[in-house]
Amino acid sequence: MAHILIVEDEVSINRLISKNLTLIGHTCASAYDGPSALQIIRTSSPDLIILDVMLPGLSGFDLIPLVGELPVIFVTAKAGLEDKLKGLSLGAEDYVVKPFEMQELLARVRVVLRRTRREEKRVCFDGLTLDLNSRKVFRSGGEVELTPKEFSLLETLVLNRNIALSREKLIELVWGFDYMGDTRTVDVHVQQLRQKLGLRDRIRTVYKMGYRFEL
Ligand code: CA
Repeated sequence: MAHILIVEDEVSINRLISKNLTLIGHTCASAYDGPSALQIIRTSSPDLIILDVMLPGLSGFDLIPLVGELPVIFVTAKAGLEDKLKGLSLGAEDYVVKPFEMQELLARVRVVLRRTRREEKRVCFDGLTLDLNSRKVFRSGGEVELTPKEFSLLETLVLNRNIALSREKLIELVWGFDYMGDTRTVDVHVQQLRQKLGLRDRIRTVYKMGYRFEL
């Protein structure tokens, strides 16, 4: 998993991002102004920086030329196209506008880590190995047959481990926005995963909400 620096002067947002990234297995460092961010970058070389634009000391735009090759995702309240283009032209990998949904940020983090080859490729637990490249699951050397949707659901749950996901969110992430079926599809697929892989204690039902993969 990656080491991620969060540069955001709003303490509650910084903590929330840090908490969610930590839950899914990353390690995080936090900075609340430009100069201390620069110091952390120089001493700990993170894999990714989540960078607010409006910061005390040095702005995100001032900081980005100083971070070298490190991938950056800008997070900012400034929704204007001009700022977006400026951020991207300065070399940011991506851009998230506040207020954002945490799932959206986590998804972008994943994409950037994949693109910069710092992503997670394999997840192991309970004698199971999830190979995220070949999209296969192995148990004691042999492959466990999953349908493509079962694999996608398992992958989504595992990559968002320890975070509760609603049925609606799982539909959106696994089946796509335009899926017309109902959310019981999720329950059916969860049952299949629990049965095939013995994940009854890992995939927890969150009352009146959805599911959480505990690891
Ligand atoms: Ca700010």
